[in-house]
Amino acid sequence: MKKPPLIWTNLILFLLTFAGACILVPWRGISHGFELSEWLTFVLLAFASGLSITAGYHRLWSHKAYKSHPAVRFLFALGGALALQNSALHWASDHRIHHKHVDDNDKDPYSANMGFWYSHIGWMLREYQAQRYHDYNNVRDLQNDTIVMWQHKHYLLLALLMNVGLPALLGWLNGDILSMLLLAGLLRLVVVHHCTFFINSLAHIWGKQPYTDRNSARDNGVLALFTYGEGYHNFHHIFENDYRNGIHWWHYDPTKWLIRFLSWFGLTKDLRKSPQERIEAAKLQMQLKRAQHKVAHLPNCEEILEKLQAEYEELKSHLLAYFEAKKALLEARKQQLADKHLLSQVTEMRLRFRAQRKQWRQLQASIA
Ligand SMILES: [Zn+2]
Ligand SMILES: [Zn+2]
Repeated sequence: MKKPPLIWTNLILFLLTFAGACILVPWRGISHGFELSEWLTFVLLAFASGLSITAGYHRLWSHKAYKSHPAVRFLFALGGALALQNSALHWASDHRIHHKHVDDNDKDPYSANMGFWYSHIGWMLREYQAQRYHDYNNVRDLQNDTIVMWQHKHYLLLALLMNVGLPALLGWLNGDILSMLLLAGLLRLVVVHHCTFFINSLAHIWGKQPYTDRNSARDNGVLALFTYGEGYHNFHHIFENDYRNGIHWWHYDPTKWLIRFLSWFGLTKDLRKSPQERIEAAKLQMQLKRAQHKVAHLPNCEEILEKLQAEYEELKSHLLAYFEAKKALLEARKQQLADKHLLSQVTEMRLRFRAQRKQWRQLQASIA
């Protein structure tokens, strides 16, 4: 089969920036050395551009996981231009298709089924899905966002200003334009490119699937370190409107922290969270599925399967009852009607749920 034509602009851009970062940056480092202030600017701009993609392009514009103040959106638009990953409008359009048709080689723009190279960068090197371009039907809502449209219209100029103008200006202020251009401009661009590209490639290949196995997305705490918290991609693909990707406090998700931090000042609001009982139920269902799969080959499997199913149903009903009671208590508190009875009911439901979960875990362990 004949391969689609190359997209020369992208190819040359990726090749030149990568080669430049591999050759020019070490050359400058050896022959001249870099200052701490230059490294700090590298880190600062890496976070500014990376977080503009994850918090802005991804969670805000693609998924509407929260609302944000125009000042924040303006900064995300600039940071997105700095990350050099096309306009927010184009990016969000691609990304919404990715979620809708995940792993479908004909429709998903960066389908993980096509392998690491394709989902990482290959999809941008050829006109694989030419019919998709310039059709922004699935981002009509974003076309009403003046900041998104302003960035889309002036994208090339903004990208140049942010990637060349800004590092040059910072370098001039610091007394060494070339070093700053190489470190905070070039190296930063390449590193952030590949770190964010990992979300489409590695986050669909490497890791666990605690919430769903209906698509290739994976949860991976190590990958979260390189992707501004987007390594919890299995969770993300099932609860895509949640402003968090790492749901536990110990999960490294700086994107989530930024969104929450800004909300303390009223700069972001309406942060969407998936109901905890739905998250727990999804996890439970995957555990049941895994256990069923494990025992399927055993001689007395029917008996174990029956027990598994019964314990699962029991745990799920306890789970729902516990969260129902919690919700009732919360509601009552809002109307200042909470009483001892409601409180003790929640405590009792929680104890029952935990006892049943302990039993469930023992059963899982005995199967393993
Ligand atoms: Zn994905
Ligand atoms: Zn997404």
